[in-house]
Amino acid sequence: MSEVDYKVIVGLEIHVQLCTESKMFCGCALEFGAEPNSRVCPVCLGMPGVLPVMNKKAYEYAVLTALALDCWIPMFTKWDRKSYYYPDLPKNYQISQYDLPLGADGFVEIPLESGRIKKIGIIRAHLEEDAGKNLHTAGNYSQVDLNRTGTPLLEIVTEPDMNSGEEVRALAVELQRMVRFLGVSEADMQKGHMRFEPNINLAITKDGTEYRTPIVEIKNLNSFRALERSVSYEEQRQLDEFLDTGKVIEMGNKTTRGWDDEREATVLQREKEEAHDYRYFPEPDLVPVELTEQWLDNIRSRLCELPLKRQMRYIQEYQLSDYDAGVLTADRSISDFFEEAVKSGANPKRVCNLLTQTGLKIAKEKSCGINELGIRPESLANLAEMIETGQISASSSAAVFEAMVQTGREPEALAEELNLIQKSDAGELEQIVDKVLAENPGAVEDVTSGGKKSKKARGFLLGQVMQKSKGQANPKVASEILAKKLG
Ligand code: ZN
Ligand code: MN
Repeated sequence: MSEVDYKVIVGLEIHVQLCTESKMFCGCALEFGAEPNSRVCPVCLGMPGVLPVMNKKAYEYAVLTALALDCWIPMFTKWDRKSYYYPDLPKNYQISQYDLPLGADGFVEIPLESGRIKKIGIIRAHLEEDAGKNLHTAGNYSQVDLNRTGTPLLEIVTEPDMNSGEEVRALAVELQRMVRFLGVSEADMQKGHMRFEPNINLAITKDGTEYRTPIVEIKNLNSFRALERSVSYEEQRQLDEFLDTGKVIEMGNKTTRGWDDEREATVLQREKEEAHDYRYFPEPDLVPVELTEQWLDNIRSRLCELPLKRQMRYIQEYQLSDYDAGVLTADRSISDFFEEAVKSGANPKRVCNLLTQTGLKIAKEKSCGINELGIRPESLANLAEMIETGQISASSSAAVFEAMVQTGREPEALAEELNLIQKSDAGELEQIVDKVLAENPGAVEDVTSGGKKSKKARGFLLGQVMQKSKGQANPKVASEILAKKLG
């Protein structure tokens, strides 16, 4: 029996659709779900004699993202033509960036299940245009929708630094959160805003010798689940293939496979094209891009604290759970709202509970963001403060929150109107307690005798006080009075 040990090695290419209003090189609107071929013009249709013009916003978004990935940003880049012969890109080439990407040598940090944070290298980030969509739903012929043609795509290529399906998924999720935070992409997987292409092979040690299996690239994955599963599948398939055939990596044996969602298996598509098959050459219709320091500084000033950093800070500074901190940082608007409320002095844990337990529910019902509920972070801070000081109970805060959203008014007045202010007035509560004690001599006996039943009897008496006050007694104050009276 020979000794076999192995490690899977994965690098990832990610295409992210940028959320500009218009396309990369023409003025056509970026619109999902529009009538096929209604968002097209001579430029994105590839008519002869037309000239592309670069979308500045797309370049800004791309550089902002590259900065967030800690990339080096060259001051001079250019555009290249990549030959491409498919019906979904009628001009027969894609405008891309070949040898001078707009960002290089960066990294991204990803959180792992173990709580550890891993650094994944970024080789490059460049801009290019998307192709259209071939549709094969009409029967015995195919159709093409060119609305997507010319959509700005940011391609990000990582180092082969990931060693499991879990790590690959974590990176994809982190990138999604990051581009959403930066506001450069909606990153909606259902709309194909993020597409993944993992490159996978194994480093196998057998009887003391190391072997590498041929690299497989899986094309066009558009869900986290497919990404994670396909990597795990390929890990096993390559191991089996190596043990069967002993096939190892050589020049030219890199292959492309697709993911079959139903069979949960990768399927061989084709032997990989080499870069020279694409016949890259400098795009003659576009001027090179030359940046100024001032422009770059301006973009740099728009960088915000990135979501993972924030998540870690919430855990450390506010003692929130990893889960809660993750929910709050899944979205920039929730996170910013939370920060504002905490800044006005509220207890972070209380604000977090209000947002994650009630706020998100209401926002979901209204299908809007937390910041679109029409309440100010300061008002939410006031609500949190009312719970903190015992003016209202945590359980009745949801009703006040909902009333705030409905009316846009402040929590104090609403809690008053809804009769949710807890009675903390010792005099008034004392009267109620006295009544309860007089009406329940048996329970008082149980408590004062100090036996086994004592604890239960105390709970019973407190329950009676709460009931008599119609739930408005502040339980903390009430139990203090009870304890005093019972000695
Ligand atoms: Zn167009
Ligand atoms: Mn690409």
